[in-house]
Amino acid sequence: MAGLHVRSVLVTGANRGIGLGFVQHFLRMPNPPQWIFAGCRDPKGQRELQNLASKHPNIIIIPLEVSDPASIKAAAAKVGERLGGSGLNLLINNAGIAKPCSLDNETPENMIQVYTTNTVGPMLMGQAFLPLLKKAAQGSPGSGLSCSKAAIINMSSYAGSIEDMYVWEFGQVVSYRCSKAALNMLSKCQSLAYKEHGILCITFHPGWVQTDMGAPGQIPWRMLKVLSSISEKEAGAFLDWEGKVVPW
Ligand code: NDP
Repeated sequence: MAGLHVRSVLVTGANRGIGLGFVQHFLRMPNPPQWIFAGCRDPKGQRELQNLASKHPNIIIIPLEVSDPASIKAAAAKVGERLGGSGLNLLINNAGIAKPCSLDNETPENMIQVYTTNTVGPMLMGQAFLPLLKKAAQGSPGSGLSCSKAAIINMSSYAGSIEDMYVWEFGQVVSYRCSKAALNMLSKCQSLAYKEHGILCITFHPGWVQTDMGAPGQIPWRMLKVLSSISEKEAGAFLDWEGKVVPW
């Protein structure tokens, strides 16, 4: 963890689940970020996040609906305003949805809604926050890539792996699998396009975490450990919570 020195971070879907876990673990770091932007679509309804923000002035709750381009633009403007002249080091595209459908009962509506949230959202977030990420990269010394400098972390899932059709017998979740496979491709594209700006992009399988979406298991702390250790050689990679490469 010693290797992670993040002045500012934005987590989407930060009101519950893994996103909230990230916020809590950032606070527990020996050197917590000066700004923790917690994106959520209904700021007023989030008591746990509100309580946390009332105790920690470095948490700024940002209204953010990732399937709405106008909301993303407004969030980028708010974050930019708060940061003054400095940039955003870390963007964690964590918000995501799953619809428990088999292939037989999957619908166009599900496919579109899940893709819009899980894939289009992170793409628009990357575009909207690019100027702030670039600014952070320009303001950091050294030529290498790192999460302390400027990075986009896309929260994917092993369920998006085509090579290893993870737990197919337990849940086909076709719209979810397709959206995460597409998110993996997006991450690779972002890694190639944004490398020249000094921005590290990876896609991440968090492991099974006890949330509304997942089962018991790992915690965001392990993910932060991985983020503290990665550099340009991991750019565009699909990693799990232990830093191991996940098959595409
Ligand atoms: P949860 O269902 O617990 O939380 C999802 C979060 O995303 C909530 O904060 C939710 O907000 C937010 N969200 C959903 N849709 C939108 C939207 N359109 N705009 C803004 N925010 C939105 O999920 P997890 O914490 O379990 O998962 C987080 C990420 O990790 C997801 O991308 C998921 O696919 C991935 N993942 C999780 C695993 C697990 O075991 N938990 C395993 C593999 C991957 P709201 O409260 O308003 O609904």
